[in-house]
Amino acid sequence: MKAGAVRRRVRGSLQLQIYMLACRDVMGFVPDLATMVFVRHNERISVSYSDIDLNVCRETLEGLVNQVQAVDPEQITTTHCARCRFRQTCKHSTAQESSAKRVGAKKPWYGTVRAPET
Ligand code: SF4
Repeated sequence: MKAGAVRRRVRGSLQLQIYMLACRDVMGFVPDLATMVFVRHNERISVSYSDIDLNVCRETLEGLVNQVQAVDPEQITTTHCARCRFRQTCKHSTAQESSAKRVGAKKPWYGTVRAPET
């Protein structure tokens, strides 16, 4: 991929925009640049965002949140739940029963929640 195309993809990355949006809206400052590091290629690409860019990012996020909240949990048919690290605590998981029985199921990164001793 050509350098210009890579830079456009980096700049269009919602991930970087979210970090910048958090800096602006939570921490109260906007860094001049956001840098994505491609460790394997030992390369860094820095991009900047305007206030308008970050406003568009915020609107995009709000739209995505609205879409997620509009989903009827009963209609979820994903097969991802069985491999999801949140399956044991997610109230919408379709794999809570089967994953608990699965031999060798990985513990989630946050560990397991123990029931209080009586
Ligand atoms: S367990 Fe919950 S968070 Fe994970 S994939 Fe299923 S619905 Fe999504």
